[in-house]
Amino acid sequence: MSDAESSTEFDPTAPNTGEDFEPVDVFPDSDDFDLRPGADSCYKCSTCDTNCPVAEVDDDFPGPKFQGPEQWRLKQNEDDYTIDDSITDCSNCMRCDNACPSGVPLSQMHNTARGEYVSEQMSKFSVEYVRNRILANYRTSATIASKVPRLANFAMNFGPARWVMEKTMGITSEREFPAFAKQTFREWWSARGGAAASNENAQQAREARGEDRDADKKVAYFHGCYSNYNTPEVGKAMVRVFEEYGYEVVVPEQRCSGTPMFANGMLDDARRGAEVNVSSMADLIEEGYDAIASCTSCSMALRQEYPELFDIDGIDEVAANTFESVEYLRINEDLKGDLQAAEVEGDLAREFAYHAPCHARNQGLEHQSVELFRELDGTGIEDVGESCSGISGTYGWKAEKYEKSMAIADDMFDHMDDASGDTGMTECPTCAMQMEHGTGYDIRHPLELLEAALVE
Ligand code: SF4
Ligand code: SF4
Repeated sequence: MSDAESSTEFDPTAPNTGEDFEPVDVFPDSDDFDLRPGADSCYKCSTCDTNCPVAEVDDDFPGPKFQGPEQWRLKQNEDDYTIDDSITDCSNCMRCDNACPSGVPLSQMHNTARGEYVSEQMSKFSVEYVRNRILANYRTSATIASKVPRLANFAMNFGPARWVMEKTMGITSEREFPAFAKQTFREWWSARGGAAASNENAQQAREARGEDRDADKKVAYFHGCYSNYNTPEVGKAMVRVFEEYGYEVVVPEQRCSGTPMFANGMLDDARRGAEVNVSSMADLIEEGYDAIASCTSCSMALRQEYPELFDIDGIDEVAANTFESVEYLRINEDLKGDLQAAEVEGDLAREFAYHAPCHARNQGLEHQSVELFRELDGTGIEDVGESCSGISGTYGWKAEKYEKSMAIADDMFDHMDDASGDTGMTECPTCAMQMEHGTGYDIRHPLELLEAALVE
C-alpha cells in the first residue's frame, strides 16, 4: 500500500464532515493541497462535461469529470497510474468550475494534474515543451520585443517567418501576432510622474467632486503583460478613470499573473511570478490599497488560482482584496448613475458587440458591461451570448489546436455577425484577438468606453 493510500481512511458511504480525516496530497509529490473533499462531492451528474467547450467539438476529449475527480481517484488507487495526456487538451477556460452544482474544484484538479504531467511525463527536449514554455512565458519575449517594437512587429508577421515558426515550433501561421506598442504602459506611467503625479491628480479630482482632499482612496494596479506591452491604452484609460473618481493609483513591481503558465502546466514558472506579485500586493494591501486588474484572467489568477495552487505568505489577503477594475468602481462608486447621465461622442460613439470572457463568468461579471453601458447615450451594446471564444490564451496559438479553437468560437462569430454593431468589446486580451481574427472587427475594452464617457 502506498503512503497516500495508508493515510486515506475515507469511507465513501460516510458523509465528509471535515473533522475526522487527515488531509492527503492531491497527487503525491506535486502539491500539498487537499482536494479529497472536493473529489468526494462529485456525484457523476456530468453537468461539467456538457458545459465543456472542448468536449463539445472534440469527441476524443474525455471531459472535465474524467480530468478531475475520476483521474484523482485513479491516482489515489493505482501506484503506477500516470496522468492521461488528454490533460493538455483542456484549455483551462474554467467553465466546468461554474457548471458543477456540487462545488467540485475541477480547474484546481486540472491545473494540478497538468503540472504533474508536464514536470514528470513530458520530455523537456520535446518541441511541444519548448514551444509551450515560450508561449507560457510571453512576458520574457515581450520584454525583448518591446525594446525594438517596429522590428519585432515586422519580423513576427513576416510571412516566411510565420511559416517557419509553424513548421519548427508548432505555432500556427493562421494568426497574426499582436503588435507591440512603441511605448509600454510602464514607460508612459514613469514619464507621466508615477505615483506622485497620480496622487496629485486624485487629490484635485476629490476636491472637484466635493470630497475630502485627503480621503483614503487608493488602488494598486495589476496591469498584466498585455496592457503593458501591447495595449497600453487600456492601462492609461484605467488610470485616468480611477483618478477621475479621486483614486490615487500605484503601479507596483509585478510579473505575469501566471494564467498562461497554469494552462501549460508550468507551475514552477507560475509560482516564481506569484511570489513577486503576492509580495508586492500584500505590502500595499497592508497600507490600505486594494488590488485591481483590467484583465479578467489576471484578477481570476490572483483571486482564485493563487490560493488554490500555492502557499505564499499574504496570499489570502491578496485574494480577498483583488477586484476587476470595472467591478471595483461599480461597488464603490455610483458608476451606473454616472453613466446614465453621461454621453459619448467621437470615436467611441459606436454600437458594440460584447463578449463576456469565461474567466469573467467565473467571477460573476458576465452581465456587468451590458448592464452599465446599455443606457449610455451615444452608444449601443449587445451581448453576443454565452459561448466561449475558444482561444483560451495560448491554446489557440498551437497549430494542432487552431481548428478546435475556431470551431469553439463559431457561435460567437455568428452572434457577432448578427449583432447590429461592427465593433467588439471584451475585457480579455486573447478573447479580443480571437474576436478580431474571426470577424475583422475593431475590439475595445470597457475601460476605454468608461474613459470616453466619464473623463473630461
Ligand atoms: S458537474 Fe460536478 S458533480 Fe457533476 S460530474 Fe462534474 S464534477 Fe461531478
Ligand atoms: S477547464 Fe474548460 S476545457 Fe478544461 S475541462 Fe473544464 S470546461 Fe473543459
